[in-house]
Amino acid sequence: MIPATAPLSAAAIARESAVIAANYAPLPVVLAAGCGEWLTDVDGHRYLDFMSAYSAVSHGHAHPRLVQALIDQAQRVAVTSRAYHAAPLGPFLEKLVDLAGLGAGSRALPASGGAESVETAIKAARRWGYRVKGIAPDCAEIVTARGNFHGRSTTIVGFSTEPAYRADFGPFAPGFGHFDFGDIDSLAAAITDRTAAVLLEPIQGEAGIVVPAPGFLAAARRLCDERRVLLILDEVQSGLGRTGRWFAFQHEGVRPDGLILGKALGGGLLPVSCFIGTAEVMDLFEPGSHGSTFGGNPLAAAVGLEALRVIEDEQLIARSAALGAHLLARLRRLQEEQTVPLIRAVRGRGLWVGVDLDPQHVSARAVVERLARRGVLTKDTHETVIRFAPPLTISRAALDWGIDVFAAVLDEFLPAPDREAGRVTVLASRSATRIPMNRARPAANPITQPRARLMMSAPDHFEVSYRINPWMDPAQWRVGAERLAQDAQRGWSQLKQTYERLGAVVEVQPAVRGLPDLVFTANAAVVLDRKVVLAHFLCPERQGEEPHNRAFFEAMRARGVVDEIVDCPAGEFFEGAGDAIWDAGRGLLWSGHGQRSTAGMQHFLAATYGVPVVALELVNPRFYHLDTCLCVLDGGEVLYYRPAFSRCALGLLEDLVGKDRLIEAGDEDAMHLAVNSVCLGRDAVFCHASAALRTQLTERGYDVHVVPLDSFNRSGGAAYCLTLRLDRSTQALPQREVFVEEDLSELRRAA
Ligand code: PLP
Repeated sequence: MIPATAPLSAAAIARESAVIAANYAPLPVVLAAGCGEWLTDVDGHRYLDFMSAYSAVSHGHAHPRLVQALIDQAQRVAVTSRAYHAAPLGPFLEKLVDLAGLGAGSRALPASGGAESVETAIKAARRWGYRVKGIAPDCAEIVTARGNFHGRSTTIVGFSTEPAYRADFGPFAPGFGHFDFGDIDSLAAAITDRTAAVLLEPIQGEAGIVVPAPGFLAAARRLCDERRVLLILDEVQSGLGRTGRWFAFQHEGVRPDGLILGKALGGGLLPVSCFIGTAEVMDLFEPGSHGSTFGGNPLAAAVGLEALRVIEDEQLIARSAALGAHLLARLRRLQEEQTVPLIRAVRGRGLWVGVDLDPQHVSARAVVERLARRGVLTKDTHETVIRFAPPLTISRAALDWGIDVFAAVLDEFLPAPDREAGRVTVLASRSATRIPMNRARPAANPITQPRARLMMSAPDHFEVSYRINPWMDPAQWRVGAERLAQDAQRGWSQLKQTYERLGAVVEVQPAVRGLPDLVFTANAAVVLDRKVVLAHFLCPERQGEEPHNRAFFEAMRARGVVDEIVDCPAGEFFEGAGDAIWDAGRGLLWSGHGQRSTAGMQHFLAATYGVPVVALELVNPRFYHLDTCLCVLDGGEVLYYRPAFSRCALGLLEDLVGKDRLIEAGDEDAMHLAVNSVCLGRDAVFCHASAALRTQLTERGYDVHVVPLDSFNRSGGAAYCLTLRLDRSTQALPQREVFVEEDLSELRRAA
């Protein structure tokens, strides 16, 4: 336990307090150094950072690449003003504009603090209102959300609904209206003919990490289009990976007209912010219309560019998605299983979660103070909410430790009998958190549970006439061709019937003579959100499949099964869902590279689907597609075969999935291609399952269905390879945790 008044801290606090305006009420911690997710105070105590300076330190403290970029640029030139051009600014804004994806001709206007860029957005919206929409002079209005937080300038606090932010700072600028956050009817009512823009945070941060109901942002986008109003999103806090996407708007597949960024854009080292707008909005700025002495300075641009690159290179968005799902699940479990209702709500996205405490039982400020004394730094907001916003670089172990400390602190607020039972702590330290899934069987309830839609290609011409992977042995096939072909037909039909029995709809692609591997449909493409990214095969033997796959997907587009067909980019190879596996619970795509698909595909897939992609390097020629050595089960477990992956890939799997959710396949299962399986809810379809694997899966609540697929195994494929999922949606939220809880209680009873 860290003492309440350590000597050096006490002296530093006294010194600072004597001369600083009392506009904050800091915790009594005097920080002296930081490294990654850890901070140290002047007395040498260590703390875990669960605050990240209100998301400004998403990269962790003193990230070596960012510090180096800062030093290198500072030694060249730091501040030039925009009276001149500066070399680092173009590359920085080019990257930022590209990531924001606001369309051709979109531009950025750089500044320093977040509020400055909010001011830029307000100016841009008003200009657009007068010059494009034709609103009468000085009448433009901007509609904002109740509970908003956009900064502290007088204009901005003028439209805040928080009395403390406004008291005696008026008079305020007119021209702002309000709606109830998350309420589309209220937003519709607030918009008038004079409205130029709707300005909102996709998730309200300072209000207590308030997440609107799914669909709200998409509805707001539609409304803005209908009423000819700009949609401007303030992603100063929610942007740059914090919610498990580059930008929170990507969760709903919408695009704003204007986007405000700040905080993490400075890599935790400098104030860097930006307003990015569509061409129609940004072309309204001319020289002299707006400016900022420090905005876009070379130092800020160099650090900002490196900050974006680090997010990409260190897969921080995927970390946020995966570790955020874990954080949310653990905190929700605490809430569900508490004996005294200390926690009223747990809400958030990615590594950004607010825990709302019941002030009748516990004071958020007191919890935050006790957390600090136990070495975990966070901050209360709005008296009842505690935020969990660690650096996106945090390790899983540190995250778990911080949550354990939080649970232990909550225990201290329980009445004595409950505390003695140690209920909260015991439950918190149980690590088997699971990603929610739905128990309902598709076949049993086709109305509430959409039926899985799969694609398979008939094995009419399947045989191994060539050798493109270590499994294939054409000589062996020649000897028993007839028997193997019959076996293939039987196995394939049995697999299709199994899927149909489990409630799936199967689309069958006609077989093509001379293209035996067309049967391995998973390699034809990946389909997410009804968008098809077509494969481009590395092996010339399979390239003949490409026109047939294209034709089949074109036909499916004509039938309305898919919406869009996208080519694999020139210079890349990509073997479809075999190397791109959607993980619904974590909200990310696992991609494999190093054998068949090229590493560059991760960026293309991330940009195409707007989702985090975790690139895993495959190092074993026998396990040449990701689906031969990794399978994501619908309850969140990942079945994998260790020898197939590089060390770095194994590290990522362990950190993002967690040891308790990783199921390691043994040699027997891997060599029978058992990992190449298909999960439909609680039903897992395998071509082989050892007794040990079957027991593990059954214990976790799965029904294991085994369909022997020996002929296909000889070609390196099994159930997953023979199947392409057409109905995966990146927007689908995981269902409530139903079957896991029931099964756990069943298991406990049985034990
Ligand atoms: N917008 C949002 C959503 C914020 O959370 C903040 C700060 O917390 C700001 C704007 C203001 O940023 P700054 O404090 O850098 O001016």
